[in-house]
Amino acid sequence: MKDLHSAGAIQQSLRQLETLFVDYYEHPEQSSLLQFKPKAALAAELGEPTPPQSGIGLEAAVNLFTTDILGNAVKTWHPNFMNQMSAGAAYPAVLATALATMMNGTLSTFEASPAATIIERNVAGWMADLLGMKAGSGGIFLPGSSLGNFLALVLARASRLEPSGDRDERPPVVLCSDAAHYSIANAVSLMGLGREALVPVATNDANEILIDDFADQIKRCLNEGRRPFAAVATLGLTVTGGFDPIAAMAEWCARYDIHLHADAAFGGGIALTDRRDPYLNGIELADTVTWDAHKWLHAPLTTTVLLTPQPQLLKAAFNPDAPYLFHDFDDQSGLTEDLGHFTPMCGKQFHALPIWLMFKAYGTDWFRRQAQDRLAMVDAFAAEVKADPELELAIEPRSPVLCFRYRPQNASDETGLNRLQVQIREQIRASGQALFNVSDIKGRTFFRLILINPLTTMKTIRPILARIKELGRLTMADTLPN
Ligand SMILES: *Cc1c(COP(=O)(O)O)cnc(C)c1O
Repeated sequence: MKDLHSAGAIQQSLRQLETLFVDYYEHPEQSSLLQFKPKAALAAELGEPTPPQSGIGLEAAVNLFTTDILGNAVKTWHPNFMNQMSAGAAYPAVLATALATMMNGTLSTFEASPAATIIERNVAGWMADLLGMKAGSGGIFLPGSSLGNFLALVLARASRLEPSGDRDERPPVVLCSDAAHYSIANAVSLMGLGREALVPVATNDANEILIDDFADQIKRCLNEGRRPFAAVATLGLTVTGGFDPIAAMAEWCARYDIHLHADAAFGGGIALTDRRDPYLNGIELADTVTWDAHKWLHAPLTTTVLLTPQPQLLKAAFNPDAPYLFHDFDDQSGLTEDLGHFTPMCGKQFHALPIWLMFKAYGTDWFRRQAQDRLAMVDAFAAEVKADPELELAIEPRSPVLCFRYRPQNASDETGLNRLQVQIREQIRASGQALFNVSDIKGRTFFRLILINPLTTMKTIRPILARIKELGRLTMADTLPN
């Protein structure tokens, strides 16, 4: 181990990394987004059934990483990467991840991570503040909103169904729409509630919950002797980028003692823009909120904060009995509390460091400008789509997500049109030009482009639009009956 940690070895690999990082970050658009290979070819190239017996040294291993792994990776920092709700990790965030890993103290206990514990509490408070939650709100960092959504529903059960230890005997149900993230359905099955515990609420053409149906579903469940104990408002819907009407949902939840969870994994970013109010007013009434910093804030996957106006709720739900780890003689209040009391995780990474470092380095104003710029970008894009007779916009964009399709004016066969979008997208993916997704909205297939990468501009988009139309025309001509 010693020679891996000598000054010489470290300096040599840092020089290697210098080249690698500069290549990756300085002009990402000048190299290709991906080298498309058929799956079988890549499996044949990289499949390796046994581990190496003797080593090749750090320098050679890093070179191997560069050719084999990075060389076959999708470059998520590339402006043409618009496939996921997360794009590349910002360079300072990458640096912070390395530094956090170097420290490698678990954040479960203050004694192992004294400064980090306080920083994590600070940053959780900052995130709650940015969203517009009540003073005193806070929470914990977790690897992903999927886990955050699960824990939020576990908290909901603890506080609404077993408040005094007595079980509510009515079958419990959770209300959300079909467009809610799939992690909600997973959470319900992980909780052992059964799929029938998920009650879908009707939505509008942007997949946003219709409040009248929300109220009707609550009343229907109660009439059937079921107990709606939690409802999920998705803020930043996975397919459309839309927002459930959280303020109106909060009124019904308060009336019927329902835990309101705001899944703001993606849409939390709108808090940084002047479009915040119509979408996030009411978030201060949510019992729990999840927000992913790996989406608009470009932290590494997966940096999630689970927030609540009552952080002590978390402590009540997870407070572990592990005297070998948590010592009662320590002061257990305020910023120095053991975070292990607030989460089911034992080993706990320093997830807040990338956000802390970026906010310190750039300030939240910089992130506000970036986020505002993304909205301007998606609006400009939508305007071009609407002005183009061969393209059809699915819905007016609410957040940096644009859904549209290729639809020549004479087209009428909906099934054929759905297939056409998939075909066009596949050809663009295989060419390595760009990576974006296709998705269904109420039975119709649209391209779905996530526009959070600060490098993506209309200059990036126009050649892709041109290619979409070219492929659309060619494919239509090919499949036309003669
Ligand atoms: C991304 C996302 C999730 C999943 O979050 P992970 O951090 O990827 O686990 C859940 N809900 C919504 C609305 C999302 O956008």
